[in-house]
Amino acid sequence: MLIITYKSIEKEAIKILSQTKYSCTDHIDMAIDDFLVENETFPYLVYVNNLDVGEDLNQNCNFKCSYCDKIARYALKIKS
Ligand SMILES: [Zn+2]
Repeated sequence: MLIITYKSIEKEAIKILSQTKYSCTDHIDMAIDDFLVENETFPYLVYVNNLDVGEDLNQNCNFKCSYCDKIARYALKIKS
């Protein structure tokens, strides 16, 4: 029972994660276009690698652009 519950939570977490894209400043236009196609809605843009983001700092500081090897500057998320 516990294992089944745990797996369903894990699955949900992966689903949420896949709705977020990361982009450097060079690829933000491309990232928004792709996000629109995949999610049929405009992304909610969040700055990453920014010292002011507080609680998100640790989880965001190592994300790379989805289109190149640069460190991501933006996260594109579904607005909740
Ligand atoms: Zn890039």
